[in-house]
Amino acid sequence: QAKSAGRNGFCFFDAQMNADTRERLSLELDLRQALVRGEFVLHYQPIVDIHNGRLLAAEALVRWQHPVLGMIAPDRFIRVAEQSGLIVEIGEWVLNEACRQMMLWQAAGLPRFVVSVNLSAVQFRRGNLEALIGSALSRFGLNPSCLELELTESILLQDSAAFIDMLYRLKTLGVKLSIDDFGTGYSNLAYLQRFRVDKLKIDQSFVRTLLGNTQDQAIVTAIIQMAKSLNLLTTAEGIEDDSIRRLLAELGCDQGQGYLFARPLPAQEFMAFAQRTQLPA
Ligand code: C2E
Ligand code: MG
Ligand code: MG
Ligand code: MG
Repeated sequence: QAKSAGRNGFCFFDAQMNADTRERLSLELDLRQALVRGEFVLHYQPIVDIHNGRLLAAEALVRWQHPVLGMIAPDRFIRVAEQSGLIVEIGEWVLNEACRQMMLWQAAGLPRFVVSVNLSAVQFRRGNLEALIGSALSRFGLNPSCLELELTESILLQDSAAFIDMLYRLKTLGVKLSIDDFGTGYSNLAYLQRFRVDKLKIDQSFVRTLLGNTQDQAIVTAIIQMAKSLNLLTTAEGIEDDSIRRLLAELGCDQGQGYLFARPLPAQEFMAFAQRTQLPA
């Protein structure tokens, strides 16, 4: 009896696995076509001074404008893009598009702000990132200090000589580095200095529950203190209400990002946001 149940279980698992594989493969094909057809778009979320709301940066966040399914969030396709290696090409598109948009904003006379893009570990392993970034910056006539690269803590685990060399060369190019979702992964303090990181982005899982949760408060306080002693900036992600913003400001956090200020916006709407917040109060 147990044996037949086991066999059934196995068969079911097998069928399920095939279904998963089929789904992944078809998503992979769709992603490939999406690239060719130009179905990816970037939205930009404001990052502001947590004390006065002044616009400091825009994080470029990719979306897939699917002809039938509509706007698809990155959580639904980035993992498959990474597994298939397609993230290298998608990431290249993101980088170029973000730089092109930054050039347009600067040409339109918006005050200077930083544009940040998310990088996947796969791009470090496969891509010629330094050349890619260097040529995107020069193609659009941008100052490297206007571009920020967001890495996750897991990227820093690739402790290879080639990886360290790449980070060093990116810093030499003049771009900024930040650690995304900070606090959720493995963090080695020595790494932060060795890699000459500029900023820690405190993960939203600590920020959302900050008011009621003394443990999250302790963690966020420690991150901010540590950042200060290492001379790093901090951005809190996922700020949805003003009482949390105020507490973070009191704790000494520098920058904020979240629905309280704005959601990720299409480029046009971002421009309107930038012009609005630029107006004297
Ligand atoms: P992330 O880099 O940590 O980006 C922040 C995410 O938090 C965004 O989700 C943003 O919409 C969301 N968010 C911001 N403020 C709030 C808030 O107040 N409340 C809530 N509930 N959410 C907020 P999004 O755009 O869905 O992106 C999800 C993740 O996908 C990103 O997390 C990033 O890891 C990844 N991603 C996005 N674009 C790219 C890309 O171009 N390349 C790579 N490799 N990954 C990307
Ligand atoms: Mg990010
Ligand atoms: Mg994040
Ligand atoms: Mg995230």
